[in-house]
Amino acid sequence: MAQIENLDKPRANALNQNYERERKLSFSESLYLPEILKALWYSFKQIFQPTFTLNYPEEKWDPPAIFRGRPVLVEDDGKERCVACGLCARACPPLAISMQANEDADDPKERYPDFFEINMLRCIYCGYCEEVCPEEAIVMSKDYDIVFESREEAIYDKQRLLVPKEDLKERLDFLREYKNRQFGKFWDFQEENNIHSVRDRDREFNSGLSLVEMLEQQKSNDKTKADSDWAR
Ligand code: SF4
Ligand code: SF4
Repeated sequence: MAQIENLDKPRANALNQNYERERKLSFSESLYLPEILKALWYSFKQIFQPTFTLNYPEEKWDPPAIFRGRPVLVEDDGKERCVACGLCARACPPLAISMQANEDADDPKERYPDFFEINMLRCIYCGYCEEVCPEEAIVMSKDYDIVFESREEAIYDKQRLLVPKEDLKERLDFLREYKNRQFGKFWDFQEENNIHSVRDRDREFNSGLSLVEMLEQQKSNDKTKADSDWAR
């Protein structure tokens, strides 16, 4: 037959080995009323303390530059900086980014995303897309109040993602400072590096060449240059 335990006495366990030293309530405490009045007095005093809360959404919080809000595409001179390399989509843990690359022979940066979408239902605001982007083309903005009423609305297309670089200045400055500190001379970000063009590097640009042929030509040009530098 199971032994009947003494229920008046708390059982000792790993979390409460000192149960014998538990404080006994005084008479006034056991009435509870003085304690309730004390709590009310404490709450009343807080009315006159400085407030740290905001009346959102009437009052908006302006986050610091380190804040990671909604990822956006940087618009530079009316165009996206993005060259549709796909690195951000590759690095994105929940696979929230999708894009299709296209080419524009008249544009110095040659490639651009035909479409670029971020599924904000999937985004976890990790900032990996921003970390890996070689063009400073996608950054985390200050935008935190994001609302949608359907799944379709949660998919942000290129037009909704583009934000002029002037409006992202604080974050771009922060990133430069942070990346330079992290990678030192190996990073040393230069804005003009944003345009990578095989064509610009070619000594004799031949528009009849395919991209592979251009790369081959570039390699041989680089080798000739390296040899001549070495001979000097
Ligand atoms: S912040 Fe993270 S989850 Fe969101 S799009 Fe960028 S990589 Fe993907
Ligand atoms: S990593 Fe940057 S340049 Fe490459 S596709 Fe993403 S946003 Fe565009």
